[in-house]
Amino acid sequence: MELPLALLSSLKGLPGYDESAFLAVHQSGEQVTSVRVNPLKWNSANGIMITGDDEQSLPETALRPVPWTSNGYYIDKRPSFTFDPFFHAGAYYVQEASSMFLEQAMMQGTDLTKPLRVLDACAAPGGKSTHLLSLLSPDSLLVSNEVIKARVNILRDNLSKWGHANQVVTQSDPRFFSTLENYFDVIVVDAPCSGSGLFRKDEDAVAEWSEQHVILCAQRQQRILSDLLPALRPGGLLIYSTCSYSSEEDESVLHWLEHEHEMRIVPLKTDPAWGVIPSGGGYRFWPHHTKGKDYSWLPWKKQQILPAIPG
Ligand code: SAM
Repeated sequence: MELPLALLSSLKGLPGYDESAFLAVHQSGEQVTSVRVNPLKWNSANGIMITGDDEQSLPETALRPVPWTSNGYYIDKRPSFTFDPFFHAGAYYVQEASSMFLEQAMMQGTDLTKPLRVLDACAAPGGKSTHLLSLLSPDSLLVSNEVIKARVNILRDNLSKWGHANQVVTQSDPRFFSTLENYFDVIVVDAPCSGSGLFRKDEDAVAEWSEQHVILCAQRQQRILSDLLPALRPGGLLIYSTCSYSSEEDESVLHWLEHEHEMRIVPLKTDPAWGVIPSGGGYRFWPHHTKGKDYSWLPWKKQQILPAIPG
């Protein structure tokens, strides 16, 4: 896989970046699979979670915990999820381990025992929303919004399979939420981005990457955030993430939030063994950072999360 030279040179100097290790992990072709189980439906007494088909049954011993979440596991192989009735029943969700870091932002940035009004503003296909439902108290409300109509059905299906009643799905442009002034305790923005974190999974994404697209994405991310911030109550928590490695979409957006919107960064405690790299107030998941002897796989998707409280 040929990575764009302009991307590689733009990453030089970022905390935790190591070009040869970054290139090697992209050339290796190794795929990391992880799942997050649904505590409403997952019966650990079964000893088997993912059946796939008879040949591919995975005993619980084949699962290794993702350390920053309570219900996430790396799995040794990738079964045919589409043939698994547990998958269709919402017993688990296939999700990148780095995405599950949302749990740390929610646990450390809010009081999960209290009823919270939460907006997942860019929600399809529902990875973050299903995770939020597992974390929130039953008297909390989750609004899962997806602006692209064609992506709303899959979001609705995934949330309905997850089995919680305290959620609604909306299909609105983020700017319409500005009329719900100070309504939400938490807003999650898992922003549309230039997608360099997806290269290992989808080689075609490499051809679509350009410096110009990074700039356009950064502008769109700022527009989405500006539209949503009026709906966040004073003292509320904003969680921002992308799957782009580009600092224009990550650290620069954090800097802009701090200086143009008077947001305060909430630092998160992380275990050094996780290999999560603090950077510019957020957290990077580089694919080349090892996790110590218990975790032979690495989260490959870079994720940056900004819990921030308006001043
Ligand atoms: N949070 C989702 C999950 O965990 O499954 C993934 C979200 S994906 C990274 C970004 C989402 O933003 C996509 O569903 C995309 O359709 C949506 N999107 C695209 N353009 C948007 C815009 N202008 N405003 C808000 N959302 C947008």
